[in-house]
Amino acid sequence: MRDRKPGTVRDLRRENRSALLWSLYFSQPRTRQELSEATGLSLASVSNVVRELLDEGIVIEAGSVDSDGGRPRVLLRMNPEYGYVIGVDVGETRVRVELFDLVMTERAKADYRLRPRKHDPGVVAELILQGLGAVLADSAIDPSAVLGVGVGVPGIVQQEPEVLVHGQTYGWDAVPLERLLRAGTSLPLRFENGAKTMGQAELWFGAGRGARHAVVALVASGVGAALISGGSTYRGTTSSAGEWGHTTIVFGGRTCRCGSAGCLEAYVGAESILERYGRPLPGEDEESALAALVEAADSSALAATILDDTAEYLGAGIGNLINLFNPERIVLGGWAGLLLGRKLLPAIQDAARGHALRHPFAATSIELGHLGPEAVALGAATLPVERFLKGIPAPADSAARSRQRRAAIAPAAAGQRAWAGDRG
Ligand SMILES: [Zn+2]
Repeated sequence: MRDRKPGTVRDLRRENRSALLWSLYFSQPRTRQELSEATGLSLASVSNVVRELLDEGIVIEAGSVDSDGGRPRVLLRMNPEYGYVIGVDVGETRVRVELFDLVMTERAKADYRLRPRKHDPGVVAELILQGLGAVLADSAIDPSAVLGVGVGVPGIVQQEPEVLVHGQTYGWDAVPLERLLRAGTSLPLRFENGAKTMGQAELWFGAGRGARHAVVALVASGVGAALISGGSTYRGTTSSAGEWGHTTIVFGGRTCRCGSAGCLEAYVGAESILERYGRPLPGEDEESALAALVEAADSSALAATILDDTAEYLGAGIGNLINLFNPERIVLGGWAGLLLGRKLLPAIQDAARGHALRHPFAATSIELGHLGPEAVALGAATLPVERFLKGIPAPADSAARSRQRRAAIAPAAAGQRAWAGDRG
């Protein structure tokens, strides 16, 4: 155990509170006894922290369960209405903005198409701001109730001294995205690479749940990955770790958008697959064109060959991930990864087997993401949730927030799904 410095009592209280919130967030409803067992905190400590959280409106009571002969035990859960979070997915083909309550039930969304390779930072910032306004208006949520906004971007995010996005293949060179957005919003903002936000979504709520060592691979127009090591995202020196799309798969191969040759992305990125096919396809954008190609593979030998090759390239890339990182699980996601994976997963697994060492391959499962193409936005929205659970205060706080905390709890609309907590 590490040494404690003066100021300890407050630190200890914050740590206990955070441990309890993390535990309850991912497994609710729970009784005080269950929280005590799950966190290792004494029942007295749990009761103290719970009292505080009930007073603040962060936790609410949710019925009770019988205990063996004793008094019924009160069930506790997170108050979904305590605060809201917004996730933004800046992609190659669209900008998506989604507003969630605290347990990640979606309350509103806005979606704007982008033309590939037309990614002027001013235009993208304008669409994000438009989306923020739209989801707040549609959900009738007061901005003061928003804990924060997470933005997933296609590039490397430099956090200091100011947020700069280095999106070499996106046409963004040190774009000061936070500064651009600050012109139109005062909401707390966090930024992260989109593959990493998708990785966190799958890790928290999807196919990566429970994994300690995993790779969540994002295949869209571009290709990236989130490396989960010991339960958290591995970042590297300048946060660029996971740029799997720009590892070389064919020496001297196709020119990549990054300027290099033979990168994985130049073979399995949606744009590259369509280029390798080289024939016109129905559909007005990349997403519908790739869907048409997958469909055409049943009747066209050329389309079938292109997809077979794609499975080989992807499998070889995944074999590299297995040999390098020894993950227990590889999750294939991203809109193109999911589209291709639904048809090609067995072929991709076979190819990976052919390229990975037998021992680590046998310890790895390769599966599709569970959260669909919106996982980047969902994951971006977990950035402010993560800070909240850790007890890092959002800068914006006001009387309006306290009013919000005490507001009546409206049940989530039917058909909406809450991501946080146990879902059998
Ligand atoms: Zn490249």
